[in-house]
Amino acid sequence: MEEFDLFVIGGGSGGVRAARIAAQYGARVALAEGYRVGGTCVIRGCVPKKLMVYASRFGQEFDEAAGYGWQAEPSRFDWTVLKANRDREVARLEAIYESNLAKAGVTVMHEHARFVDPHTLQLQASGTQVRAKRILIATGGVPLMEHRIPGIELAHNSNDVFEWPTQPRRVLVQGGGYIAVEFACLLNALGSEVTLVYRGAEVLRGFDHDLRSRLQAQLQADGIDVLTHRTVESIHANGGVREVTLSDGHRIEVDAVLFATGRMPNVAGLGLAEAGVEHNAMGAIKVDAFSQTCVPHIHAVGDVTNRINLTPAAIREGHAYADTVFGHRPTPIGPRLVPSAVFTTPELGSVGLTEEQALEAHPRLDVYQSEFRPMKATLSGHGHKVFMKLLVDRDDGRVLGCHMLGPDAGEMVQLLAVAMQAGASKADFDATLAVHPTAAEEWVTMRSPARRLNE
Ligand code: NDP
Repeated sequence: MEEFDLFVIGGGSGGVRAARIAAQYGARVALAEGYRVGGTCVIRGCVPKKLMVYASRFGQEFDEAAGYGWQAEPSRFDWTVLKANRDREVARLEAIYESNLAKAGVTVMHEHARFVDPHTLQLQASGTQVRAKRILIATGGVPLMEHRIPGIELAHNSNDVFEWPTQPRRVLVQGGGYIAVEFACLLNALGSEVTLVYRGAEVLRGFDHDLRSRLQAQLQADGIDVLTHRTVESIHANGGVREVTLSDGHRIEVDAVLFATGRMPNVAGLGLAEAGVEHNAMGAIKVDAFSQTCVPHIHAVGDVTNRINLTPAAIREGHAYADTVFGHRPTPIGPRLVPSAVFTTPELGSVGLTEEQALEAHPRLDVYQSEFRPMKATLSGHGHKVFMKLLVDRDDGRVLGCHMLGPDAGEMVQLLAVAMQAGASKADFDATLAVHPTAAEEWVTMRSPARRLNE
């Protein structure tokens, strides 16, 4: 039986990074991936989604161009062209991932792997068994579709959207998280009629309230029918049409139903019990700061551990694992400042504490904010308002959170995160010279607080 120093289960962001770095440290590494190398992010998540977001923004740009003197032909969008080009780009990236693993000397097995015992894995298609001194579980997450409602089998999840051969004319999206609002927005901008059904009052629970309320109002203003305090109760097929009944009795006819109601750790069929690896009720593998499970030679990184379910976090965890175990440089995963973006239009970017969180730990809080019409909109007559918010601890002047809704919010928040990581104070922002004329300059020109809380 072949024996490796490290066997990685899962070829997504976390697993690939760990495998490559461990191999560079001289380990003999194998990686099993049952679907396509690249994982959720590259194959059916961040990357293809962002390409669709780009596609969705051209319609508005064509309209805006008129105010700047451009006469464009009436524009027409072709889903099949976008799908073909997007799929080609995803395949190109997949090939790069494969070749990077090969260059690093990692053996890739295109099969599902399952524990036979704590050191032995069986590859499901070929039946081959392999042994490894160390094992890393990096199997990611899967869409959560556990609703026991009639017709649930007719609902699609985010994986399915990337396979849709044609664009549905009418779509109902259930959920109010990242995936629901991103897909609702991009499908609406590409021309589908979109209904967003959310069980709460305002989408994007966990984000700053000022962003949530403004985004929701904007989604509605842009033509998405946002129905709150409701859930889908049943789905019925009538030919190609889906008849959806909501919890308030409301009935809607659509061509596709998309559920974006969260994701769960992907542990089914792994044989964790045979390995003795513990997980919680949701399936999340329990790990310590070094990503070590209760079995000392077995570790886990990424969404399967349900810590911070974002690609950059999985990559960090995979790299830290390889450094710790094969580079002999103990690298714990500590509390992190987590910048994130939601690729709606308008885009949302956030880093640090929300106003609600900041108030709990820092009651003497100054709230700076700015809301303005972007310069580009002056001639185009189109465009959403930009909103920026800076939270500052009045006692020591530290910036606690930056939140934005508007073009390039994701790009800006990445750099704001550098300032916050370095411990920037409001005085540092004030001392920074503006770049004019930009929207970003507002971050360094907000002079007086809009609100001083608990004065
Ligand atoms: P989220 O956990 O973000 O949102 C799930 C949504 O579904 C919530 O609005 C939740 O409501 C609702 N919901 C949950 N269960 C039910 C139910 N039984 N009935 C009705 N509604 C329900 O999950 P997503 O699927 O949107 O995304 C999964 C993860 O993927 C995210 O956590 C994120 O880490 C990652 N992601 C990141 C992106 C980015 O960085 N831009 C983009 C896409 C995904 P409630 O608010 O009431 O709980």
